Amino acid sequence: MLGLMQNQPLLISTLITFAERNHGDGEIVSRRVEGDIHRYTYRDLARRARQLANVLDGMGLQFSDRVASLAWNGYRHMEMYFGVSGSGRVLHTVNPRLHPDQIAWIVNHAEDQVLCFDMTFLPIVQAVHAKCPTVKKWVALCDADRLPADSGIPGLTSYEDWIGGAPGEYDWPTFDENSASSMCYTSGTTGNPKAALYSHRSTTLHAYAAALPDVMCLSARDSVLPVVPMFHVNAWGIPYSAALTGCKVVFPGPALDGKSVYELIEAEGVTFAAGVPTVWQMLLNHVQAAGLKFSTLGRTVIGGSACPPAMITAFQDGYGVSVLHAWGMTEMSPLGTLCTLKNKHLRMGRDEQMHILQKQGRAIYGVEMKIVGADGKEQPWDGKAYGDLLVRGPWILERYYKGESPLVKDEHGVGWFPTGDVATIDADGYMQITDRSKDVIKSGGEWISSIDIENIAMAHPAVAMAACVGMPHPKWDERPIVVVARRPGAEVTREELLAFYEGKTAKWQIPDDVVFVDAIPLGATGKMLKTRLREQLAGYKLPGL
Ligand code: AMP
Repeated sequence: MLGLMQNQPLLISTLITFAERNHGDGEIVSRRVEGDIHRYTYRDLARRARQLANVLDGMGLQFSDRVASLAWNGYRHMEMYFGVSGSGRVLHTVNPRLHPDQIAWIVNHAEDQVLCFDMTFLPIVQAVHAKCPTVKKWVALCDADRLPADSGIPGLTSYEDWIGGAPGEYDWPTFDENSASSMCYTSGTTGNPKAALYSHRSTTLHAYAAALPDVMCLSARDSVLPVVPMFHVNAWGIPYSAALTGCKVVFPGPALDGKSVYELIEAEGVTFAAGVPTVWQMLLNHVQAAGLKFSTLGRTVIGGSACPPAMITAFQDGYGVSVLHAWGMTEMSPLGTLCTLKNKHLRMGRDEQMHILQKQGRAIYGVEMKIVGADGKEQPWDGKAYGDLLVRGPWILERYYKGESPLVKDEHGVGWFPTGDVATIDADGYMQITDRSKDVIKSGGEWISSIDIENIAMAHPAVAMAACVGMPHPKWDERPIVVVARRPGAEVTREELLAFYEGKTAKWQIPDDVVFVDAIPLGATGKMLKTRLREQLAGYKLPGL
C-alpha cells in the first residue's frame, strides 16, 4: 500500500517561490566587482530569476542544456542558481582559479552553451573563448555601461541588457526531481577534472539538512555571509538553504581580504559566516592586528581543509565566536559531517570539549559513513582504529558525469563512495580525518597523521601555514618533515619549532626537519597542494642521510 500524501517533486524553483512569498522583503546584500554595495530583496531576486528563465527559453535552450558561470559570490550569480536550474537547465559553476586550459577543457566537456562571467574574469574569457565552440552566448555580469568597447569576444552582451527586457512572469516547469540541476568539477590534482552532477532532489534535501540546528542552524533571524565560493560546490548549498529559511544574505564579491570581510560583517550585522581556514586566518590576522571585536557574529562554519585547533580557540576565547568544524566533498554536495557538542558534553570541562570540537564532526542525517581497513573490513568506532572513509546517501555521487562510478561494493552488494580520506570514528560518532590516503606517512610500520603534525606547528604564533610530508628513509620507510611559511615579520628557528613539538605528540612522531618557504602552494579551492610541494622538495634529503 502506498502512502496517500501529495507527491510533489522537490524542485529548486520551489525554494525561490517560497522565499518570495514568505520572505519577500528579506535582504540580499552584495559587494560588487565595481566595489559598491548592492541591495535588494528575495522578491527582486525571484523576478529577475524569472526574467533569466524567459531569456533562456527565448534562446531555444533545451531541458538539461548547460549554462556556465564564472563568477564571485553575488546577487546575479544567485539569480543564475534559480533561473537556470529552475527552468530545467543545468548550472555549471566554473572555478576561475583553475588554469585557463583546464577551464576550456571543462567548458568543452560540459558542452556549455552560455557562459556568464564577472568582469574580473574577462582576461580568462579572452584567453579561452576561441577554444570553446559549444558556447553560443557570452554574457558579462555587469551593467550595460560597464561593457568594454572592444572585448574581442563576439556578441558579448551585458547581463542587464540580456535579461532587462524579458518579462518578470514565468511559470516554473514541473519535472522529475531526479533531473540534473547543477554541476561542479572536482579540482583533482592528477588527470582531468571530474564532474559531480547534482539533481533537484539531492540539492533540496541537502538544503533542508544544511539548515538543521546541529548543522548550520540557519533561520529567518540570521544574517549569513557565505565566503565559501559559489563557484565551488554551490557555496556549501547556502544559497539554497538561504531561500529555504529566508535569512538575510550578504555576499562578499571579490573582496576576501580580512579588512573587507570584517567591515561587511559589522556593517550588515552578520550572525553566521562560512569559509575555509585560509580566508578565516586573514580575518583573524586583521582583527587581532587592529584590536577589533565582532559585535554580531556568533558562529562560523570552517571546513574544506582541516581547521587548526588554534583557530577554533582564537575565535572562541578571543571573540566569543563559536567555530563549527565541517567536512565534506564536491562529490557530497558537499556537507558530510559537522562538529557540535551533544547534551552530555555540556557538563564537561573546556579542554575535553575542545578535544571533541577539533574533530570533523558527526554525520548529518542523510549521510551514512564507515571506515574500512585495507582488507575492506569495517573498523570499530572507538576513536583509535583508522581506515578509509566510505559514505553513502541521497546527496552523494553515484557516478561522474560522462564517467565511471567510483562506488565500492560491500559484502551485501551495497555501493559506497570512497572519499579518499583516512579517518577514525569514536563511539559517539565523531569522525576525525587524519589524512588524505595519498598523503599518509608511514614510519616504521606506524602511521603518522600529517594533520596532527600541521596543527601543532600552526599553534605556534610565528607560523602562518604548515604542511607535513613524508620523506623516504632507509630504516623507517618514511619520516615526516614540516614545511612552514612564517607570518610576515615573525621569526622562529628550526630548533625552536622542533622544541615546540616536545610534549605535544609522541617523540617518534616529531618531524625530523623543518623547511622554511615563502608560501605553501595552494590549489584552486584553497587546499594545500602537497603534490606541488613534493615537486618543490625534489632533491631534498633528510638530515643525517
Ligand atoms: P573538495 O571536493 O575540493 O571539496 O575536497 C574534498 C576534500 O577536502 C576532502 O576529501 C578532504 O580531504 C578535504 N577536507 C574537506 N573538509 C575538511 C576538513 N574539515 N578537514 C580535513 N580535510 C577536509
